[in-house]
Amino acid sequence: MEDFCLRGVSEDGSVKLWLAQTTNLCEEGRRRHDAWSVAAAALGRLLTAGVFFGLNLKGEGDSVTLRVNGDGPLGSLAVVAEPDGAVRGFVAHPQVDIDRRPDGKLDVGAAVGSGTLTVIKDMGFGQPYTGTVNLVTGEIGDDVAQYYLESEQTPAAVGLGVRIAPAGTVEAAGGFLLQVLPHADEQVIKQLELNLANLVPVSQMVAQGLNLTEMADEVMLGVPWRELERQPLVYRCSCSRERLRGALLSLGYQQLKELWQDKQQAGEKAEVVCRFCGEKYSFGADELKQMVDELDKERFQRFAASLQNQIDEHLANNSEKEE
Ligand SMILES: [Zn+2]
Repeated sequence: MEDFCLRGVSEDGSVKLWLAQTTNLCEEGRRRHDAWSVAAAALGRLLTAGVFFGLNLKGEGDSVTLRVNGDGPLGSLAVVAEPDGAVRGFVAHPQVDIDRRPDGKLDVGAAVGSGTLTVIKDMGFGQPYTGTVNLVTGEIGDDVAQYYLESEQTPAAVGLGVRIAPAGTVEAAGGFLLQVLPHADEQVIKQLELNLANLVPVSQMVAQGLNLTEMADEVMLGVPWRELERQPLVYRCSCSRERLRGALLSLGYQQLKELWQDKQQAGEKAEVVCRFCGEKYSFGADELKQMVDELDKERFQRFAASLQNQIDEHLANNSEKEE
């Protein structure tokens, strides 16, 4: 079954629902980073949450970054999502193993630790919008719900689940986001609370082969709702040679020059690996030299411009004195 996100709304318009099946993209993230179970679960949950944020963006070219900075063994995690259902992400330390919880579940909260969740919305122009909250449990779902409440003043329920097979691959994954608008009926809220308290974890529903409509029916049990749209989802990276070249340039003149000299001496190429997808890009010594020269030229132009400014100022001061 392909990955999809269903968007729905209650008949009275007071409850919004996003429900996603993300098994394939979570497995793709796990595979690309060779992530072990608890890392794959944490990354998969954040990727699934990223889907909801991405689909809530308006235009083409917009993107949203979810960054979890925890003090646990996984280190930081980041996910970037786009409005067309594309997501990508990484976890700083994917090969980490920790004890399971007493109930036998993967201890994502302990692996993430305490810290912050930051959401950065880049609309393609101006300053990106940024909001940060403290992690509640590090289980990702609770933390995302807290973000909606604190940063967007929207009460939300978030359920995220990634089931890892004994072989270590992602067997089933999915999640939901439920937002209740201020004018929602008290009875509807009570019903939803009851539903959520009794809800089978999403990853289990996916594993059982329930389709999106059936899963949404479980979440919205007793609340009339209708589907608005369905969006295919994919793990996709937007990296390119040009982008990674830009990353190398951003090292600055001195550091890039040292890199070039090292590689020149060793007769090697510099290899840059994209953090999000693991794609490798190599740059030969000649190309590095070209980039160093580019930065050197810029450096000289900046120097020349500032020198010209100083001369102009000097002349202006002197002419004032002469008057
Ligand atoms: Zn990439």
